[in-house]
Amino acid sequence: MFDEAVFQIVPVWTVFFAGIGAIIGSFANVAILRFQSNESVVRPASRCPKCKAPIAWKDKIPIVSWFLLRGRCRACQEPISKRYWIVEALTAALFALVFLKYGWSWTLLELLIFFSGLVIVSFIDLDTFLLPDKYTLPGMVIGLVGAALSPERSFLDAILGLVFGGGFLWAVAYFYYILRKEEGMGGGDIKLLAWIGAVLGWQSIAFVIIAASLVGSVIGLLAASRDQKGMKTVIPFGPSLAFGAVLYALAGQNIAQLYNDFFFPYLTMTP
Ligand SMILES: [Zn+2]
Repeated sequence: MFDEAVFQIVPVWTVFFAGIGAIIGSFANVAILRFQSNESVVRPASRCPKCKAPIAWKDKIPIVSWFLLRGRCRACQEPISKRYWIVEALTAALFALVFLKYGWSWTLLELLIFFSGLVIVSFIDLDTFLLPDKYTLPGMVIGLVGAALSPERSFLDAILGLVFGGGFLWAVAYFYYILRKEEGMGGGDIKLLAWIGAVLGWQSIAFVIIAASLVGSVIGLLAASRDQKGMKTVIPFGPSLAFGAVLYALAGQNIAQLYNDFFFPYLTMTP
């Protein structure tokens, strides 16, 4: 009776998934970093970007090592970016939340892969303003294959999601170009929303666009007020789309419920 109680109090599997997420997060860091330097993700072994000293395994423990080293390289004392542990902690939190929400399911596996990809492309977009095809195109394929295999979602929803998501942003980009004669929306954003649609279905598209636009506007205003370039400040839209997708996957139904309860209370009122 004791160990059953322990299993109920200590969320063993949630902690397990957070740990897996932290490890995947450290791979995500490598993928983000290597994308810019155009190196393979697997080789060479991790080195300090400054002094090129190889990094020992004990200094590669996700999240923990950065704090043990107080954010500095063991060999040259050069500061190591906070970005490393932030990406690891973010991925750990996402993995734990997906498990808490979906438990042992096909959707769990699909969302772990999806969220890992979103973390990688979001940070690449922040750094380089690129959403590489190398991630978005396989993302779409994995999304469609996942829908075909999953007993928990429909293949038609996924196809429609891919077409609506990609098609909507393609139309926005097209009309923007017609009106302004300049590119406002990158092709990468179009492919990212197509990928999101393939995984979350067409039902997610409106939510993701609205959430991403709200978040993007707030970040855009903050960035514009900081760097004094006014409304010409360019911010990548990929991270906002990824945020909208994560919010939809983890809390979309709850938010829709809150919205309905607030604006249409008579629909959900029990007599
Ligand atoms: Zn160093």
